Amino acid sequence: MFVDTRRVENGTVVETDVCIIGGGVAGITLALELEKQGIDACLLESGGFKADDETRDLYRGEGIGLPYHFSDGCRGRFFGGSSNCWGGWCRPLDPWDFEKRDWIAYSGWPFGLQVLAPYYERTHALLKLGPYNFDPAFWEAAIGRRDVRRVPLASGKVRDTISQFSPPARFGKLYRDTLARSRRIRTFLYANVLNIDTTGSARTVSRVHVVTLSGRTMYVSAKLFVLATGGIENARLLLASNKDQPAGLGNGNDLVGRFFMDHPRLQSGSIRFTKEWSRNKLYDIKYHYMNAAVAAHGTCIASQLALTPEVLKQERLLNARVWFASVFPGEGSEGAQALFRCKQALLHKEQAGWKLSRDLFTMISHPVHTVGYGYTRLFQPRSLIRDVKFQAIVEPEPDPNSRVTLSSSQRDRLGMSRVEVDWRPGKLAQRTFDRTFAILAEEMQRTGIAKVVLDPPIEGGEWPSSLEKEGTWHHMGTTRMHDSPKQGVVDRDCKVHGMTNLYIAGSSVFPTAGANFPTITIAALTLRLSEHIAKELRSASACFSKGALIGANFQHSPAPVDEQPVSAKTSSTAQPNFFVPANGK
Ligand SMILES: Cc1cc2nc3c(=O)[nH]c(=O)nc-3n(C[C@H](O)[C@H](O)[C@H](O)COP(=O)(O)OP(=O)(O)OC[C@H]3O[C@@H](n4cnc5c(N)ncnc54)[C@H](O)[C@@H]3O)c2cc1C
Repeated sequence: MFVDTRRVENGTVVETDVCIIGGGVAGITLALELEKQGIDACLLESGGFKADDETRDLYRGEGIGLPYHFSDGCRGRFFGGSSNCWGGWCRPLDPWDFEKRDWIAYSGWPFGLQVLAPYYERTHALLKLGPYNFDPAFWEAAIGRRDVRRVPLASGKVRDTISQFSPPARFGKLYRDTLARSRRIRTFLYANVLNIDTTGSARTVSRVHVVTLSGRTMYVSAKLFVLATGGIENARLLLASNKDQPAGLGNGNDLVGRFFMDHPRLQSGSIRFTKEWSRNKLYDIKYHYMNAAVAAHGTCIASQLALTPEVLKQERLLNARVWFASVFPGEGSEGAQALFRCKQALLHKEQAGWKLSRDLFTMISHPVHTVGYGYTRLFQPRSLIRDVKFQAIVEPEPDPNSRVTLSSSQRDRLGMSRVEVDWRPGKLAQRTFDRTFAILAEEMQRTGIAKVVLDPPIEGGEWPSSLEKEGTWHHMGTTRMHDSPKQGVVDRDCKVHGMTNLYIAGSSVFPTAGANFPTITIAALTLRLSEHIAKELRSASACFSKGALIGANFQHSPAPVDEQPVSAKTSSTAQPNFFVPANGK
């Protein structure tokens, strides 16, 4: 069921088994799994079913250092989270992304791909993907078109990879009815978690403090708590929960907020294909994005080029992915941008402050660029392509100085410190861009696919102005996973080191990020976490039923009774009577 927290009696204390904070991909996935396991849970979501400006404003913060945008349009703060605006690209991490690589400081996960593989497979149903198969030969054969062909890659230096597209699954819409019908999961909308309260020298979470923008207060006490508010906000909430520990929760080793990563993204060079390859759709980001011609088994796919693991090791590089990007007339003009925003609006993507009237006016004022760009994007006449560029994303280098901190001067409307983000993709990322483009250009020229003119190398200099200011909207690493509390905020089970009942779900736990899109890995890790949580609850209840309280893995410390208005005490059996029906009316 859904509950509108703005209509909950002030001071209500809700009791449950698992309290999930944040209703994005991670939070909703966990809620769905707990429902299947018959576990009572509360899902606390800051926003409602639709985006609103007041809630969105809670996400504002400042990029310090390298220009970096992470608020409007870069994160969604309403039910479904950033799945309300994501692009749907999905590909599991490569096996070597999990390994400790001696040329990349702080690299290595506590486990390998084989541990996540069964969960990756299960994400395909959740994310509405095709068969669990990322073999380029499989997809080339399944598509079976002359203009969707793999390029020959004979040198052993370059390989091709496949990503699948989720439709994209908008979790807030897709799973709304299931959660509305659920008797186990209570989803509280407009519920902003302001603080995580602890007992026992800040080792155990007792409850979370929830407020609404309309001024209501609510508390949720639970046996286990899971933070799933996204890669930036997970760190913010831990740092801001500093009543008992001045440095914030789980921050005994000053790691929370550090190692912030996003995938740096660049366009570069100029590619002239030979006649034989000029019509190939497989690697061109403009042609293959959700293109029905590049699809099989009901799933659109895309292919990217990458260096082989042997070359990465030999050249001591980070992982990377490269596409081709056709440049059409009018691209980048005001009219083209206005047209693009209108298309995004038609696709129901969240765009802060978007106004149809303003964009219509812009398009009318720039008719040639608007119509020219619209025509070429719609019909994609190859004769009008002005240029083709490499477009690449590179694995970010884990760096403790790349970090999310709390602002000392700026607070949001709820009184919570805003964040400052100092994004540092790293010098090795620059070299990886240079070497990846150079090796790829060499391979394409040698095999007669294209002639390539490279841009000047960027290593050692400032980042070029073409570096995308939003990164790739992938916020990762701020509560990294490591077996040692000296090197990680969470352990291999995503439990916060030194705490008995606090877990983290989402890309903030990634120790390294590879060069693939994070959401499928977020979903896989969350499915794994749900099993761990179910096991913890079962073993703890077995302990309780045997009377063996000592040794249980967590403590449940309900809020003091005198703080609970009797009429407002709620539990899973006595549910509050103020639900929001699934249709939101
Ligand atoms: C434009 C764009 C394109 C993208 N494209 C892709 C792509 O193609 N492929 C890919 O893999 N990834 C993509 N991503 C990234 C992807 O969307 C995220 O990785 C994913 O959605 C993160 O899920 P999450 O549940 O961890 O966090 P979020 O989606 O950020 O969800 C967090 C939730 O917590 C809520 N919340 C926050 N603070 C609080 C609080 N204090 N109290 C209560 N609730 C709170 C928020 O409202 C939100 O609903 C894209 C992102 C953007 C913005």
